[in-house]
Amino acid sequence: MSVLNTAVKETAKQLAKAEPPSKESPVVHFFKSDLRVHDNRALSQARALAKENEAPLVGLYVVSPQDWEAHNTAPVRVDFMLRTLTVLQEDLAKLNIPLWIETVEDRKQVPRRILELMDTWKARHLFANLEYEPDELRRETKLVRLCASQGKTMTVVHDTCGVPPGELVTGGGKQYSVYTPWFRAFKQRIHDDEHVIDQADDLVKVPDSIKEQLPKELFGCAIPEAPEGKRLTDEEKKRFHQMWPAGEHEASARLEKFCKTRIDEYADKRDFPAASATSALSPYLASGAICTRTIIHTASDRAKASSLDSGSKGFRVWISEVAWRDFYKHVLVNWPFIAMNKPYKYETANIEWSTDDSDAKFEAWTQGRTGYPIVDAAMRQLLHEGWMHNRTRMIVASFLSKDLLVDWRRGEQWFMRHLVDGDVASNIGGWGFAASVGVDPQPYFRIFNPYLQSEKFDADGKFIRQWLPELARISGKAIHEPYARGAGSQAQKAGYPKPLVDHKAARDIALAAYKKASGKE
Ligand code: FAD
Repeated sequence: MSVLNTAVKETAKQLAKAEPPSKESPVVHFFKSDLRVHDNRALSQARALAKENEAPLVGLYVVSPQDWEAHNTAPVRVDFMLRTLTVLQEDLAKLNIPLWIETVEDRKQVPRRILELMDTWKARHLFANLEYEPDELRRETKLVRLCASQGKTMTVVHDTCGVPPGELVTGGGKQYSVYTPWFRAFKQRIHDDEHVIDQADDLVKVPDSIKEQLPKELFGCAIPEAPEGKRLTDEEKKRFHQMWPAGEHEASARLEKFCKTRIDEYADKRDFPAASATSALSPYLASGAICTRTIIHTASDRAKASSLDSGSKGFRVWISEVAWRDFYKHVLVNWPFIAMNKPYKYETANIEWSTDDSDAKFEAWTQGRTGYPIVDAAMRQLLHEGWMHNRTRMIVASFLSKDLLVDWRRGEQWFMRHLVDGDVASNIGGWGFAASVGVDPQPYFRIFNPYLQSEKFDADGKFIRQWLPELARISGKAIHEPYARGAGSQAQKAGYPKPLVDHKAARDIALAAYKKASGKE
């Protein structure tokens, strides 16, 4: 981060000295995970510079199939991003701003190709919001330097988090590794400096006379097909398009609806997977169709809350969940090695994961065939919807890493390969929590009992019956544990498997493995 901050300062100086944009020299905004027009800081700054100099503005998005491969990006997420680009292109066109989409096969060539495009367009000024994954930060730094070496400027802006990473420190000047004090500091910072979450200016339409300076072929650039290996079948397209309509308008509509109808009950109902009590905004946040600032402003306004400590309990609890996303981004910036397959709690790297049938166990987990109904229902929901409820994400992650003692990283990658909201920081954060290897984790000895979780959070079995049709006819509490509660023959006839492991015995094995790794045996 410090390398980047230095680069940011360097370019700020260069921007002041550089030849300004003009009618013939457009300003370029490089879109990444900020696929929206409204409340987009770097885009708004790019537009302001263009307006001041009567210059056109060009949007650029780079499709990098190798990046999607490297990040295990799910086909459903790739499809969602491409559809979001279609909406963005239409919205930008209404403002006389073209969106050019460039596919670059070799990811290392991305910075160079951007510079070539800028040369073609005679552009000297590039703007972008920062992304915080290590690869992205490296690319950003390279771009900043490349621009500087060629007499161009690149302005990078903190946008995605409410409070920029690196700004919140403990009394001892250290970065926070525990959520609760971090969240207190987050709220305090927003209270003390309301500008920290100032919304970006709305974009003013580019006049027709300025738009006409741009080559016509820049408008209406085709949105590419998903690359091979990331394509959906026709049936999947139909299903996911219905479930996840893309774009900024859909994100705003969901936010409004949630604030109107569900937020007040959020605190009481958010843990029940059958209740549809959460916002389902995660894919929109992950693609940047909406951002934390807009959420805080809109939700505070609708809840008539004068601060993040006022308003209804539902509002306060929801904001505290939204803030987890920011927390994990801060964590990633502070400890980037967590995105390189290394656990934050380094001693857990020594855990001896099970080698006993672990491939078969992992396979059963992925397909929802472990014999634990709550786990299987959640895993099948993931395959069908590309999404899973937070409570069940915790249950299945705990089950894989502790009951099955399968390396949590396999589960983390499986999630990325199937989630429509896959986000490096939140996913590693969530897995780190549930598997007790991350920042501010669940203590290793707290091992979820899947049956008790099921009875508590899906008491009437509605969620299980929805996703496991073979168990739909099992009545009463037996739904949570059919083989031990008198519904075994029914479950067997329906082809539902027996439990892969005995929870109590598995728990003891996991405790021993975790203790041994940390030298506590
Ligand atoms: P809501 O409850 O409505 O919350 C609103 C928003 O706040 C969410 O959209 C999300 O952006 C944020 N949020 C809420 N809870 C969390 C949390 N615990 N951690 C981080 N952000 C949170 N979230 C992702 O966006 N992408 C992931 O890849 C991801 N992987 C996860 C893996 C595991 C093992 C676990 C336990 C959690 C993971 N989460 C992830 C966090 C959380 O489960 C989802 O954000 C949430 O379920 C999305 O549903 P929602 O939009 O209805 O959430």
